[in-house]
Amino acid sequence: MATLQDVAIGLDLGGTKILAALISRDGETIREIESETSKQSKEDVSMSILNTINRLLENDKVDRNRIKGIGIASAGIIDSKKNIIKFANNLGLENFPIGSLLEQHYHLPVKLCNDANAAAIAEWIWGAGRGKENLIYITVSTGIGAGIISNGSLVTGIHDSAGEFGHTSIMHQGVLCKCGNRGCLERYASGTAIVNTASQRLLAGEKSALQKLLNEGLEITNQQIAIAAEEGDVFSINLLKEVGGFLGTGVNNLIHLFNTEVIVFGGGVMNMSPFILPSIKEAVRGYGIFHMAKDVAIEMTTLGKKGGVMGASGLFFTNEATEEELALSHVK
Ligand SMILES: [Zn+2]
Repeated sequence: MATLQDVAIGLDLGGTKILAALISRDGETIREIESETSKQSKEDVSMSILNTINRLLENDKVDRNRIKGIGIASAGIIDSKKNIIKFANNLGLENFPIGSLLEQHYHLPVKLCNDANAAAIAEWIWGAGRGKENLIYITVSTGIGAGIISNGSLVTGIHDSAGEFGHTSIMHQGVLCKCGNRGCLERYASGTAIVNTASQRLLAGEKSALQKLLNEGLEITNQQIAIAAEEGDVFSINLLKEVGGFLGTGVNNLIHLFNTEVIVFGGGVMNMSPFILPSIKEAVRGYGIFHMAKDVAIEMTTLGKKGGVMGASGLFFTNEATEEELALSHVK
């Protein structure tokens, strides 16, 4: 029974909502709560977080002694050693000491990681990369990010910023990116880039079922591109195929760097995976170093939007976390 297993609290801090869940070691969601993120001030965000966790723990049937800790997945720049959210634009936070806030209130250990890393951990423990020592989770949404598990460890880098896959360049002297680099993958294959490219081409007069939206003065969205592709619009199908090619070029770079075993895709843009995934696979099989690329599994997430909150709790259930527990039990 789940209630007899260790559990951890997972918290996914997003710009519009906070998702909190009690997750057992075997990945079962015992209880989950969603609330709006109030972001008038630091104090408001603190209150939203504490209220959400309090509601999660109300009337719960889980013995408090079984709660291993509180894991947090946050957007933005974090410091996982000090448990501080250094900067999160979508939450309006700067130098927010979330670790000490939660430790003071709940007297539980706290761990913090960024949202793409959390999703990678969730796929590693419970999802499409379950049990694999070398996997990379890639989210393709308004931006592009990655969480990298290499030889059984999460790769964080010195500033918790490893995995900025969207800002790796796939084109020398390509389009200038807001990060300062040129040719960033994000400028060619993110949700934002897809809409920009489609709009530019339609304005230039390319034929597409989407032209009627422009004629009606409506903005083009990824959802409309997806619908058009499903209805056989060649313009949209070719655009998404091209996006898959850009992503595949980036994925090849990752495979060559990390000799990875599984690539897991998630994020809103990948709802169009039937049109994108085949050309990603084609690029990997066609242009990757054969012995590294031939067996790489390229999968879609099996956890979807729950990856963040599950991975946050999963910070207490990784092999590394278990080794920490063992070390502590030896000290005792
Ligand atoms: Zn960039």
